[in-house]
Amino acid sequence: KKYTREEILELVEEEDVEFIRLQFTDIFGMMKNMAITTSQLEKALDNKCMFDGSSIEGYARVEETDMYLYPDLDTFEIFPWRPQQGKVARLICDIYKPDGTPFERDPRYILRNVIAEAKEMGYTFFAKPECEFFLFDVDDKGLPTTHTNENAGYFDLGPLDFGENARRDMVLMLEEMGFVIEASHHESAPAQHEIDFQHDEVLKTADNIMTFKLVVKTIAKRHGLHATFMPKPTSGRHGSGMHINMFLKKDGKNVFEDKSDESGLSKEAYYFIAGLLKHIKAITFLANPIVNSYKRLVPGYEAPTYIAWSATDRTPLICIPTNQGDLTRIELTSPDSTSNPYLTLAACLKAGLDGIREQKMPTEKIDALPGNLLEATEEFEKDELIRSVLGDDFARKLIRVKKEEYQDYDMEVTQWEINKYLHRF
Ligand code: GLU
Ligand code: MG
Ligand code: MG
Repeated sequence: KKYTREEILELVEEEDVEFIRLQFTDIFGMMKNMAITTSQLEKALDNKCMFDGSSIEGYARVEETDMYLYPDLDTFEIFPWRPQQGKVARLICDIYKPDGTPFERDPRYILRNVIAEAKEMGYTFFAKPECEFFLFDVDDKGLPTTHTNENAGYFDLGPLDFGENARRDMVLMLEEMGFVIEASHHESAPAQHEIDFQHDEVLKTADNIMTFKLVVKTIAKRHGLHATFMPKPTSGRHGSGMHINMFLKKDGKNVFEDKSDESGLSKEAYYFIAGLLKHIKAITFLANPIVNSYKRLVPGYEAPTYIAWSATDRTPLICIPTNQGDLTRIELTSPDSTSNPYLTLAACLKAGLDGIREQKMPTEKIDALPGNLLEATEEFEKDELIRSVLGDDFARKLIRVKKEEYQDYDMEVTQWEINKYLHRF
């Protein structure tokens, strides 16, 4: 444990914290929060802060009106970009029902369940994302556009790279909040960037992804830019992914490592890969949850389209980064940052554990990833194991919402159609 209740009360006093944000994530992966002043902190630490769950999208059921926020003390962090007198801090919370049991649609609860399952098998799951994003201009009204005058490419630096200063501030803010930043760089497309932070136990990593997106968006705004994690904001250019590196530890030791294997991987690592491959179509529903996600998963832009893995090649769905030893890991390249990280990581772990139980080596059968959101939804519906990660009620809700989202999109007459057909027919 990082902080006790007393330590948090002391910190708040010493650091002159005025506001505390009680944060959680909704089922679609959006961060939500309720702010309290320090006068209410003890009440919050007693798990007595309440909100109206029926107003949160995806939670709306009559019996879900009163929800309680149980702050996770280890997540206490001060926002370094807020005023230094009367500071703002945050606590990430678990959501509980009035009867004192966890709320089944709380994404953190979903992930905790699979973590517990892994623990029973003796495993701790570690993950590290590689989040890519664009820094676009805003218009006169301050609204986001997909416009940029920048023309830099992979690993370019200033003066070509217009996002250099914004990225620098993001890295410094993240470090102040305890992130270990491994690298940051310009990505392939104009105005596209990547910042990589260190692996951690999976719940921490999911929390970190949520914090990361908040920091990137906030700091971009301060620089007069709009940061977007939209997977494919412009056609004809690279999209933004969120590759996920993963490995398991047992008794503090990385169990994906085996020096005697030609790729440096253990049996467990191969079984884990097999589990991911087996369930990837259903995982795609969670890892690539919006219509636009599928515009990224096309050939020609270093994003995966086929269900394949390779120990040497770096673009397939699953690859093996060369940095071995204690950091031996596998990398899944399909997820994007619009996914709910708690649900995506829970599904990946579940699939990997299933692979370990089945003890099958990954095969070479070539098959394609779902081509659109509807296909992915149908795959999720069919996959009992992945559906069970969310539970029936939650799964049904998400399926319904996503089918509606796809239908809505499908009925839209697009600019592409007007350009292509209007003058000809
Ligand atoms: N932007 C690519 C994607 O869509 C990934 C490029 C890279 O390998 O970093 O996943
Ligand atoms: Mg990248
Ligand atoms: Mg990568």
